[in-house]
Amino acid sequence: MEKQDIRSMYLTELEEMLGGMGQPKFRAAQLYRWLQSGETDFDNMTNIPQTLRNELKEKTYIADVKIVRRLCSRLDETVKYVYELYDGEYIESVLMKYEHGYTVCISTQVGCRMGCSFCASGIAGLTRNLTASEMLAQITAAERDNGIRVSNVVMMGMGEPLDNFDNSVRFLRLVSDSGGLNMGLRHISLSTSGVVSGIKKLKEYNFPITLSISLHAPNDEIRSSIMRVNKRWNIDELLRACKEYQAVTTRRISFEYALIDGVNDSDKCAEELARRLKGIMCHVNLIPANPVKENSFKKPNKNKILHFKDLLVKKGVNATVRRTLGADIDASCGQLRKRVKEGEGSENIQ
Ligand code: SAH
Ligand code: SF4
Repeated sequence: MEKQDIRSMYLTELEEMLGGMGQPKFRAAQLYRWLQSGETDFDNMTNIPQTLRNELKEKTYIADVKIVRRLCSRLDETVKYVYELYDGEYIESVLMKYEHGYTVCISTQVGCRMGCSFCASGIAGLTRNLTASEMLAQITAAERDNGIRVSNVVMMGMGEPLDNFDNSVRFLRLVSDSGGLNMGLRHISLSTSGVVSGIKKLKEYNFPITLSISLHAPNDEIRSSIMRVNKRWNIDELLRACKEYQAVTTRRISFEYALIDGVNDSDKCAEELARRLKGIMCHVNLIPANPVKENSFKKPNKNKILHFKDLLVKKGVNATVRRTLGADIDASCGQLRKRVKEGEGSENIQ
């Protein structure tokens, strides 16, 4: 019998499982508290009877992640992790320090099947979805490693969260549960490449999270040339879904726009972008594109980036250039994991 992923279970599911094992309801609450606080060893759960601990060890497992590489920035306190999962797969996570506290950027899949041409995460396709417990474990592992509490989470690491919809929703419910890490949903951002079916489904949950849309282009011609997903759902469909989402949640939407030299950084692009975003309460996050070994994309120079931002602001769009954290350990979006997989580099190995 396959062992059950106990850290991904809601309290009600634990109550049902333990009830079936002849246990009182309060045991489930005790167990849930341990699991959601990040305890990964049944034997440390001292208020759970030994016989029950043994039974749980037989029937279930507690998901965790193991640090295999840690890159610490010398410029700020950013730490990039490569974690190993129980099946030997690798994922990435980043811990960032801001004035308001610590933010963790988590992965939601091993690899990604969306195939955006500028991104290293999608190069080898999708290996598998992460469970909710593996998403939670990325937070608690960073907390444990640094002796800190994480206050914000961005689902912006490897993978497309809306292509792993059920586990992402389960994660959101568990991480915000008052009996668990109790993180406010307002402190969580979910980034999508534009999976419209997922945005429509997510709207029904009315979570007060921040929805981030990786737009990266003002028209279908450019967007389809760098993002395959645009051939399935074009910009009109995507922006319509954003407006519908906003009508329900009343939350400001964040648009990510990676500036790529000569591809999407012209004045015409800025003007077209401003025109298309009219009527949406939003913020545009401009990100200088990160060079990836496998493609020839470059970021525009600093002046061009600031000029693009100014054009947007002049047209009434709320836009900022994202502050780059950990610039000296620049290896974002799947590049670090790829290097570890390929056996390259040996810096900061744990
Ligand atoms: N799959 C989701 C979330 C993970 S990607 C999404 O696409 O939104 C997180 C962000 O990094 C996205 O905005 C993505 O477009 C961006 N990104 C990926 N590769 C990049 C690169 N080489 N340079 C700049 N941004 C990149
Ligand atoms: Fe996947 Fe996001 Fe990378 Fe596109 S940008 S390949 S959706 S992880």
